[in-house]
Amino acid sequence: MKKKKINYPVIDLHTHLRNDIPKHTKEAKEAGIDIVVYMANCNPPNDNLEKIKASLKEKRYCKALPVSAITKGLKGKELVEVEEIKPYVVGFSDDGKYLEDLGLLKQILKKDVLILAHCSPPFEIGVKRPDLETKFVKRYIEVFERIKKGNLHFQHISRKETVKLIREAKKKGLKITCETCPHYFTFTREELETKVNPPLGEKDDVIAVREGLADGTIDAITSDYAPLPRKTGIAGFRAFLPLCYGLVMMGVLTERKLKEKIYLAPKKIIEKGNPNILKIS
Ligand SMILES: [Zn+2]
Repeated sequence: MKKKKINYPVIDLHTHLRNDIPKHTKEAKEAGIDIVVYMANCNPPNDNLEKIKASLKEKRYCKALPVSAITKGLKGKELVEVEEIKPYVVGFSDDGKYLEDLGLLKQILKKDVLILAHCSPPFEIGVKRPDLETKFVKRYIEVFERIKKGNLHFQHISRKETVKLIREAKKKGLKITCETCPHYFTFTREELETKVNPPLGEKDDVIAVREGLADGTIDAITSDYAPLPRKTGIAGFRAFLPLCYGLVMMGVLTERKLKEKIYLAPKKIIEKGNPNILKIS
């Protein structure tokens, strides 16, 4: 990998640091990643101000910015204390779970915050029903169209139909953003046996994700680093930059466009979510 051309801070907008921020940020740093945004599903989850403040005080080897849960205990029932939490986080996500209650989605969008939407059903269901990702994204888009407030960002887009749907929504002028992960533009399910959520797609899906990256439908690339208890080596820090750089080697992205996906766009998304957070942590 021509590492020397990556002369800007790499931002990974979607990681899970579990209950060990020092260990996992060290791994990020060693993999060439400078800033990570971490989801709320540690144990217990980051769903209240006290917990989030404590998390911010933990030692880290690279800049690490928290996301709060949308609902208390990630249970999908009751919103967290959004107003008091929002100065300390990038945004809100029930990643690890899928927020089914669209009423709660409406409520939190109205508070004008960034939502990092996890729209994939659990792995076992997703393998059998790959269409569900698109269906869930569609539902969220419909709610967002009605509310017209807040920022909506879709996590790990992996399917051809989802790319198409987001492309059309953006053409209509909807201000949504989305990301994919290296495994979705690199491997088909026939090529790699691994348990990642959403599951790997078919050849058509891989091609569509690459096209989505090239034409700007997909804004950012993230790792979805998800260590133990899962064995998801491919959704990791170490493979992140080499696989991203593969896009340049394949001619899918120029160096400049890769910089958009792993630095400029994630930075913009973070700053839209919370204009001050890059300064405080
Ligand atoms: Zn995740």
